[in-house]
Amino acid sequence: MPAVSESPPARHSELRHDWSRAQVRALFDLPFPELLHRAASVHRVHFDPAQVQVSTLLSVKTGGCPEDCGYCPQAARYHTGVEASKLMSTEAVLEKARQAKAAGASRFCMGAAWRSPKDRDIPKVAMMIAEVKALGLETCATLGMLSGDQAKALKSAGLDYYNHNLDTAPEFYNQVIHTREMQDRLDTLGHVRDVGMKTCCGGIVGMGESREQRAGLLQALANLPAHPDSVPINRLVQVEGTPLAGTEPLDPFEFVRTVAVARLLMPQSMVRLSAGRESMSDELQALCFLAGANSIFYGEKLLTTGNPDTERDMALFARLGLRPMQLVEQSLQAGGTTVHADILEDTGTDAAPRSCAVLRDDRAAVSSAQA
Ligand code: SF4
Repeated sequence: MPAVSESPPARHSELRHDWSRAQVRALFDLPFPELLHRAASVHRVHFDPAQVQVSTLLSVKTGGCPEDCGYCPQAARYHTGVEASKLMSTEAVLEKARQAKAAGASRFCMGAAWRSPKDRDIPKVAMMIAEVKALGLETCATLGMLSGDQAKALKSAGLDYYNHNLDTAPEFYNQVIHTREMQDRLDTLGHVRDVGMKTCCGGIVGMGESREQRAGLLQALANLPAHPDSVPINRLVQVEGTPLAGTEPLDPFEFVRTVAVARLLMPQSMVRLSAGRESMSDELQALCFLAGANSIFYGEKLLTTGNPDTERDMALFARLGLRPMQLVEQSLQAGGTTVHADILEDTGTDAAPRSCAVLRDDRAAVSSAQA
């Protein structure tokens, strides 16, 4: 059996940022029941395994992106049928935010298909953030690369979280994206951390990468200066017209392994099932929860009462005895290192799903989730 630590860490044990590739790969290579046992054990040290956070996203500016991310239907260069739209008005965003709040959301996430915001966009986005915040919601955004000054301006406007994914392993990156470098992403994450915003950062699997490269993605995430507060694990949604359409689908058990290793490497982070979840069976999702996933991504469902997809999710929660979390922001001290985590309070089984709002154009929501 591969030589990895046998015992789960204590609650306030030091979080590691020095994982070697061999150590991460050894976790991936564990027998499946052993890996799940370890991940589930670590999950229980830090979280109530019966609670699952529900996150959603509103696309405030869809399509027309100049980047060439090989999975993304919002890239202008691919013919995917996604129409480019302008930045939504603040009032239109606020209307969605009010609906989200009425549906029980505590956080509202806004995504824009930009390489990076132009400086002239920042005041508009800052106003949206400030107004959404004034409704009493937490705020989250994914807008592409940020400069230090842009990060500062968004933080001043009241932005709590910033999503920016690494996408894949450093050595596989250039097979997926050519219009910006991994270092650009790391720089943006650095700017976000520097101004005190929390990070949401993960990647996509099933893009044709090897297990070694999946290990490389998780190694890169875990070895960031601070573990991301949320780690979205996306399973590629293949969209006709994108370069990655037709990729050999990932073995579902390999997806579960990825979730489990993410949980082991980043024990206090929210591990989120994001894009690709809708095509997963209930059984696969249940295995992911067992492996330490404790957050799910919704499409526009939260804004649509009686939505059959929402009902399917809530029925799955009921069948598995899971409860939606209410989001309570809290910082944890871990071995002298401050990490920010979504620690969620149990509000009972009648609580509505908590968190953001959404957009249910699948292609835009999927790419925003994957971005
Ligand atoms: S993932 Fe984001 S940056 Fe890449 S093409 Fe899509 S919208 Fe643009």
